[in-house]
Amino acid sequence: MKTKKRVFALLLTAMMVFAMSGMGFTADNTADGERYESITPLREQTSPEALIAALAALAALPVSNDTTQADIMAAVEGAITNPNLQAWWATSGIIFDLTPATRSTPGHIMGTIHLGFAPPTVDDVVIVNIPIPTFTPPIITTYNAPNGTIGDSYEFQFLATGSPVPTWHIVSGDLPSGLYLSGAGLLSGTPTTLGTFTFEVQATNILGTSWRTGTIEINFATGAAVNAPTVVGTPTTDSITVEATFAGANMGGQTIEFAVNTTSTTPTIGWQSSGTFAGLTPYTQYYFFARSAHNATHATGAASTGTAIRTYCQHDMSSTWTVRTAPTCTADGVEYRVCTICNGNEETRAIAALGHDLTGGAQTVIRHATCTVNGAVRTNCVRYAECGHYQINPTATYGHDMGAWSVTTSPTCTTAGVETRNCQVSGCDHVETRSIPALGHDFGAWTVTTAPTITTAGVETRTCTRCNTTETRAVAALSPNTYAVTQHFGTWSGTGTASATVNAPHANFVRLLLNGTAVAPANFTVTAGSTVITLNQAFLNTLSDGEYAFVAEFTSGTSQNINLTITSAESTPKTGAGTMILWIALSFSGMLGIAVMSKAKFAAKDPSRTI
Ligand SMILES: [Zn+2]
Ligand SMILES: [Zn+2]
Ligand SMILES: [Zn+2]
Ligand SMILES: [Zn+2]
Repeated sequence: MKTKKRVFALLLTAMMVFAMSGMGFTADNTADGERYESITPLREQTSPEALIAALAALAALPVSNDTTQADIMAAVEGAITNPNLQAWWATSGIIFDLTPATRSTPGHIMGTIHLGFAPPTVDDVVIVNIPIPTFTPPIITTYNAPNGTIGDSYEFQFLATGSPVPTWHIVSGDLPSGLYLSGAGLLSGTPTTLGTFTFEVQATNILGTSWRTGTIEINFATGAAVNAPTVVGTPTTDSITVEATFAGANMGGQTIEFAVNTTSTTPTIGWQSSGTFAGLTPYTQYYFFARSAHNATHATGAASTGTAIRTYCQHDMSSTWTVRTAPTCTADGVEYRVCTICNGNEETRAIAALGHDLTGGAQTVIRHATCTVNGAVRTNCVRYAECGHYQINPTATYGHDMGAWSVTTSPTCTTAGVETRNCQVSGCDHVETRSIPALGHDFGAWTVTTAPTITTAGVETRTCTRCNTTETRAVAALSPNTYAVTQHFGTWSGTGTASATVNAPHANFVRLLLNGTAVAPANFTVTAGSTVITLNQAFLNTLSDGEYAFVAEFTSGTSQNINLTITSAESTPKTGAGTMILWIALSFSGMLGIAVMSKAKFAAKDPSRTI
């Protein structure tokens, strides 16, 4: 106990100041009975009365004392604006008894303050009347601290009776980490450790000490605030993954759980620890919820709702294309289509340029065609107003309209003629001429002008009916005939003539040959009837007995041998001379024949050579 009392005594001064300031200042103005509870800075005061009140307040504040007395000191703060206004204490201090024996006795600290202009004039007096409290030992009345929450700011005031106000300490046990007890008994801070803590708290003042054992329980916070969930990655057609973070400190390591719904109000698909939701409907809008998860030591947090997120659309592209930019003659257009479900995922494609359309476009004749020169027609594209395109095409020439051919130079048998025609189109002087072939001779029938023989070619002639030009050609020599002998001379016996008949034209007769030698025409006669040759008797008489073969020669051939037999039954004697003459004649003829053999044709033709 002795130790405690000594500590107590040493604390007196501080306790005294603390007690008075803690009780607040009270000043009585005895002159008029008013109380002043606040002090207006002196430098703003303009009246003596106000200054007095302010000084009275100041007088109560600085107190120094020891165990037996206290001096009340006062000073004027700031400058007094009126240089003639001064303040001073009437006494330099008030001594009063503060021995322990009187601590429980109420009292006052009294003093007098003078204020005035130009001392020693006293304008007013303030009596400072400071009550001295009654002291009592402490008794702790409130010591079990209410539960705290980890991470949350905590404040609790231990309470005790007693005067002066006691000072607080923890004397055993532990407080939760993060909480501290002030000397005034305020337990505060932010707990960082879960659990129930037991401690002994002590309250002490100059009259004594009080002890109590209290407890404090630190729990999880009520579900920590969680930010609205946000989508992670790209939603698929039926799955979305979200994540969320704590809005503040996550003391105690709470977890987050998620839920989903198609509206932003209540989650319908249950809370789950995973942020991935599968089996969703394609292209549907979902709201996601996040909150701190419930467990045994803390409550579920309030759900926070994210903005709507849509699952991916399995696009079903419209079959209808819409023209965005119409094509022109030369430029492609553009058309597009969108998804029938989401109206997005636009596709575009080109519309081929139309190309110029010259069919049905306006036409203008630029130049008319003539017989030989093309005309020209301009044709506009049907969209000429847009594209300005046109084309110029030639038109066909008419071609000359030729009249009938007219002979300007007649042809002859051997020279060509000329004919002419003119174009009948007005203004065209085109003329055409062409040759008329020579007519060629118009010959009549061939006429034999020199008949052919078996030894000489003949000639035939024809004459042009227009120009009398003649033309001749050879007629081939006749091929010689061999005429049959229908009657030979037969046997001659010395009387009369001998006749033979050859089947040949009488007119063609040339000569009669015996052994190749012509028989003198005087020796025979030739008559018609085919051809009848009669040897006269004189001739016959020249012939000696024997067989003779004659050949009749015609212009158209020769006869077969014509036989003659001379018999001696004839009584007429043959003269040697006659025989000699014949031999000579024959020999001569033979020699002559040899001589003319090289001129065979002429010899044969020569009728003068006779027997
Ligand atoms: Zn779509
Ligand atoms: Zn065009
Ligand atoms: Zn013409
Ligand atoms: Zn002619």
